[in-house]
Amino acid sequence: MNEQIKIMIELQQIWDNILKNRDNISRCQGKLIKMEDDLKKKRDEINKLGEYIKKLKNSIKSHETDLLDKDTKNKKLLERKELVKSERELDALSSELVNVQHYRDELETAILQFFDDLEKYEEKFSISESELHASEKTAAEDSINLQNMIEQYQGRIDENQKKFDELIVNIQPQFRSKFTKLLLSKTGIAVGVLTGEVCSSCNFQVPPYLAKEAGMNNDPVTCSNCGKFIYKI
Ligand SMILES: [Zn+2]
Repeated sequence: MNEQIKIMIELQQIWDNILKNRDNISRCQGKLIKMEDDLKKKRDEINKLGEYIKKLKNSIKSHETDLLDKDTKNKKLLERKELVKSERELDALSSELVNVQHYRDELETAILQFFDDLEKYEEKFSISESELHASEKTAAEDSINLQNMIEQYQGRIDENQKKFDELIVNIQPQFRSKFTKLLLSKTGIAVGVLTGEVCSSCNFQVPPYLAKEAGMNNDPVTCSNCGKFIYKI
């Protein structure tokens, strides 16, 4: 096999390692981002619950103030009822009393409902808060593990990059630029084996003369379809 091709195959393996470890880092970073997102969602949910609880407490307060007003009014009406002189005035007062009492009833019912809701939401808040604390604890541990893994993967990338840099200078200048460009392309593949006359990179059949040349010890040749360097075992 052509010496240049041998070096290319070795470089391709090193490059594959670099890409694999870059992928691993991306995956770890993705997990870190997702973890942060999940925590943020939980925190937002708790904040919303907190806001709602605050609103409920304010509603209870304002309804209780209203109720107190109605109580006072009720009391005054009852006092006035003792002093009424005419039937008409009594009717008017009675109707007003009915209204006030009806309003009081409604307020009382609403306040009871608010207290029920408050209890429910406060319980929900407390559960969500402990869940968040547990998630935060797990996330902190996972984050350390992921950071360590990223460091390890980066270490492997650096190692491989060093090997790569040392080896790439052995690729003759007339092939080096194309080879490097191919490695930097989307697929990250610069060299592929020919199976019979079929290129393993693009699965197309190359002309017989090219397949023959790829098996010889001459200069490296490239696939007539995908442009990648090809060789025969
Ligand atoms: Zn090809």
